[in-house]
Amino acid sequence: MTSTTSNNDTLFARAQLTTPGGVNSPVRAFRSVGGTPRFITRAEGPYFWDADDQRYIDYIGSWGPAIVGHAHPTVIKAVQDAAARGLSFGAPTEGEILIAEEICKLVPSIEQVRLVSSGTEATMSALRLARGATGRDKIVKFEGCYHGHADSLLVKAGSGLLTFGNPTSSGVPEDFVKHTLVLDYNNVEQLEEAFKNIGDQIACVIVEPVAGNMNLIRATPEFLQAMRSLCTKYGAVLIFDEVMCGFRVALGGAQALYNIQPDITALGKVIGGGLPVAAFGGRADLMKHMAPLGGVYQAGTLSGNPVAVAAGMTTLKLIQAPGFYDALSTQTLKLTQGLTAAAKDAGIEFCADAVGGMFGLYFAKQVPGTYAEMMTTNKDRFNKFFHAMLDAGVYLAPSAFEAGFVSAQHDDAVIAATVEAARGAFAQLK
Ligand code: PLP
Repeated sequence: MTSTTSNNDTLFARAQLTTPGGVNSPVRAFRSVGGTPRFITRAEGPYFWDADDQRYIDYIGSWGPAIVGHAHPTVIKAVQDAAARGLSFGAPTEGEILIAEEICKLVPSIEQVRLVSSGTEATMSALRLARGATGRDKIVKFEGCYHGHADSLLVKAGSGLLTFGNPTSSGVPEDFVKHTLVLDYNNVEQLEEAFKNIGDQIACVIVEPVAGNMNLIRATPEFLQAMRSLCTKYGAVLIFDEVMCGFRVALGGAQALYNIQPDITALGKVIGGGLPVAAFGGRADLMKHMAPLGGVYQAGTLSGNPVAVAAGMTTLKLIQAPGFYDALSTQTLKLTQGLTAAAKDAGIEFCADAVGGMFGLYFAKQVPGTYAEMMTTNKDRFNKFFHAMLDAGVYLAPSAFEAGFVSAQHDDAVIAATVEAARGAFAQLK
């Protein structure tokens, strides 16, 4: 299916001896597209290089964090300086105050924030907070939204309204997920019906306001507005999971784009600039339920790690440069428009969407608005396209169901080279 190269093959064979599937996060294994994963040795700007010194234009950006480009000199310098002062103390630092102040300034719905080390911890802790603050157990999520791998959130949809979900992963007890109600993304009526039936039992609604884990799917403004007013009416907590879309679709995240304020926001990826920083934060009257003030417990040996915080803080400063998001959106749009034109010239059914520095590519007539629509896109075509692009030196997310990411270093020449590669790739699909 694809040309593999000797050093990557050797490393993959070796990795599988000591690591399940040879990878430390499943999608890296190329399971859905087939072939040998590339083992990366270094990265710079919009590129990374594999173990055979093959260079790729990178459109995953570490699955979101690399928004200013790889190995940005200012970020690297901040990390080196912080590391020289010591790697971890287990006691508070001023850096944690500075990044908390920055997050509260940039995301208006966040009055107080708690730092953690992964997006999974952020959403898991946000759920616990919602349950602790409301005294309710049930949570609502939407099919196709990924919120990390905490037990309550690894649940796929039941068939209809008020069908409680089955776990997507083995090892998750039924007892645990019976409190998770999975509804259809962008379905206002279903959400209203759920609240009408059990609104007084719902602790929270959690949503990716711009979904990036079923490829890219935008929420409609009506869907998010309905969610906001139903949560307010029934006393449920609205959690925006902006681990992926926060600081990616706009400086203030999706909530700034839609002008809708959640009660709690989960953040990750960009706020760590490539090192492990994530966070959850929101209304101060909710956050006061967190230990040591309140009874909702959450902790972390490396939470607010000084080296990681230095990378995150420096990244948050860089993305506030004037015109940063205009330029990022422009480049992302140039990419999606260029790809769409190339597909049209080749006579291939294809479309694309972009929000800020995030994009979706679909082998379909029109951009999907729901998980079910996304599932009807042509996955075989995507897989062939992925490998043709990889062979041409362009690294897309190795799955038809993931969004892509552009960095501030993807300049016109990089975008033009990508579109040129795509012309060749689309030609191979005929
Ligand atoms: N929430 C969303 C929207 C995500 O996209 C992800 C990861 O991709 C997570 C949560 C989990 O974050 P992490 O992988 O840092 O645990």
